[in-house]
Amino acid sequence: MARIGVFVCHCGINIAGVVDVEKVVEEISKYPDVVHAEHYKYMCSDPGQNLIVNAIKEKRLDGVVVAACSPNMHETTFRNACERAGLNRYRCEMANIREQSSWVHADEPEKATEKAIQILQVTVEKVKLNSELKEAAVPVTKRCLVIGGGIAGIQAALDVADAGYEVILVEKTPSIGGHMAQLSETFPTLDCSQCILTPKMVAVSRHPNIKLMTYAEVVDVKGFVGNFKVKIHQKARYVTSDCNICGKCEEVCPVIAPNEFDRNLSPRKAIYLPFPQAVPARYTIDTNHCLGLNPLVCGKCKEVCEAKAIDYDMRDEEIEVDVGAIIVATGYELFPKEKIGEYGYGVYPDVIDGLEFERLLSASGPTGGEVVRPSDGKVPKVVAFIQCTASRDPDSYMPYCSKICCMYTAKHAMLYKHHVHDGKAYVFYIDIRAGGKDYEEFVKRAMEEERITYIRGKVSKVFRRGDKMVVWGSDTLSGEFVELEADLVVLASAIVPIPDTKKVANLLKIPVDENSFLKEAHPKLRPVETLVQGVYICGAAHGPKDIPETVAQASGASSKAIAILSGKELYHEPTTAEVNMDACSGCRVCVNLCPFSAITFNETTHTVEINEILCEGCGTCVAACPTGALKLRNMTDKQIFNMIRAALSGGD
Ligand SMILES: Cc1cc2nc3c(=O)[nH]c(=O)nc-3n(C[C@H](O)[C@H](O)[C@H](O)COP(=O)(O)OP(=O)(O)OC[C@H]3O[C@@H](n4cnc5c(N)ncnc54)[C@H](O)[C@@H]3O)c2cc1C
Ligand code: SF4
Ligand code: SF4
Repeated sequence: MARIGVFVCHCGINIAGVVDVEKVVEEISKYPDVVHAEHYKYMCSDPGQNLIVNAIKEKRLDGVVVAACSPNMHETTFRNACERAGLNRYRCEMANIREQSSWVHADEPEKATEKAIQILQVTVEKVKLNSELKEAAVPVTKRCLVIGGGIAGIQAALDVADAGYEVILVEKTPSIGGHMAQLSETFPTLDCSQCILTPKMVAVSRHPNIKLMTYAEVVDVKGFVGNFKVKIHQKARYVTSDCNICGKCEEVCPVIAPNEFDRNLSPRKAIYLPFPQAVPARYTIDTNHCLGLNPLVCGKCKEVCEAKAIDYDMRDEEIEVDVGAIIVATGYELFPKEKIGEYGYGVYPDVIDGLEFERLLSASGPTGGEVVRPSDGKVPKVVAFIQCTASRDPDSYMPYCSKICCMYTAKHAMLYKHHVHDGKAYVFYIDIRAGGKDYEEFVKRAMEEERITYIRGKVSKVFRRGDKMVVWGSDTLSGEFVELEADLVVLASAIVPIPDTKKVANLLKIPVDENSFLKEAHPKLRPVETLVQGVYICGAAHGPKDIPETVAQASGASSKAIAILSGKELYHEPTTAEVNMDACSGCRVCVNLCPFSAITFNETTHTVEINEILCEGCGTCVAACPTGALKLRNMTDKQIFNMIRAALSGGD
């Protein structure tokens, strides 16, 4: 006979506003083996937890069911409480009567109460047969991998390194810096972006705890929290660290290629430095444009390199590293221009996106900071800025708000007026979302002090007439049709995750949301964690974000990683699969099915073995095993049948 205690939480009115908690307690008290049942306003509060602790001791309970919210929220809380009372934590289960009853059946309180009773009975059946389990202790590799070298990855790497742990920062392009390196000034203070970014980039390159791997990508990840094994593909850049960035190679290189850092508004050579402040300060040969290295076709750069830094024999490498925690900071891209047909983006050179405009504004940009039209190099006297391009448009484009465009458009219009004093700036907007410290004031300044004309309305079409760009739209305040002849049109295009996000997410087995941004474990309580322990996220890879929010989130992710790295050992959930060697026929069906590569075949015993540290307890193998040799701890067939029986009998 088991001695089960049941604790029903009101969750304020979240549960008790629908479910009759007194009736639930009355009914469950009659259920076989339930020797104690009570309800309380907030079971997760200190007094609520004390009720559990005291009842375990006083009533000698050997199993506990807490009927409350989702186990994702409070399973650890209640298991800890049980442990404080001397009960094995795996003899405690949660019955979710909030998400699975009161919230979904809010209009049917009687049925919700009935369902809550049934969920409890099912869970009592489970806990009756739960074994006492113990977590496996595993050592921790005290090293962190950061994927992505934008401001998010830079901040995360510096924070972890400053805490005394080794960091490997992997960036796929030849330099760290990300999009922040492309910006001219930053809202709302109008600080020069490079001036505040460069010291951090240099700090990364000089930090004794950071190993920087640029022009590199993660291609494989195995293992688990505290013990990941990562394979990194290091592309050959054909230039060694002896490069002193004298630039002579670039002068003689005969190949002209588009300069991606300048968003293709200027050319570069096949051997190039991405931008003057690049870290590492080293040239790279872009083999997609170089006339040929193998066999060698040109060889001019090597001839002029006095530092003897060019090595045509360099080859790509695969490097394996062990890390204890991983932070993903792969950033964003702008919505692809070729897909925005109605605004002529990608068709007319004088319709550009926000990052192209940043490069035009930048002193180190293609025009030396002079705002000119890409088509003819003339200074534009009228500029139309269009917010929400491809954002907030569920029918045709992205459904969400890109969050930063209201702010950077105000900045763009303001900086344009600073560059072209007699210029006129028009901003088309749906509404202004300026939620940040001093943001509202910044937009107000653009409207009132800088005399930028804001037109509340959506633009339907942009087309060319003569050498002007014509913008058709509506002014939703006056209800009138608007036609504006502009010299230049700047689109605040939607922020989208880079295509790599899904690839990286698949490698790490972390989910992405419906828009392909990385998904957090809980939107409020675990915003930098993922459902894979030891893997954290930050920056615009998780959703559109400005720099302050990105930096704050990066510091949040790094503190989570530090918490893992600072422990001597980690404890792994023991609710894993186990093999009955006598029953295993050695068919190996389970080996390939396990999504965590936790099963291996033992050639001597001709049976499979489970690595309990790798096993995540998903149960795939158990369902597939034709001989029934596999079972999942605390979710055995007997438990499942008892639970089904309880559900079907309705408590009778
Ligand atoms: C036009 C415009 C103007 C803006 N102006 C401002 C402003 O004034 N103020 C402000 O606060 N914010 C501004 N922002 C927002 C700012 O750009 C972002 O907040 C910031 O860049 C986000 O940084 P991040 O590191 O998350 O992403 P990113 O800057 O995108 O960096 C991501 C990095 O990860 C790398 N990467 C991607 N995939 C991989 C991979 N698989 N392996 C390794 N590396 C990878 C990328 O190459 C890149 O270096 C602006 C944005 C735009 C579009
Ligand atoms: S010539 Fe040699 S040292 Fe000079 S920038 Fe090119 S690779 Fe570097
Ligand atoms: S339960 Fe089976 S399939 Fe799932 S992780 Fe464990 S060993 Fe792999």
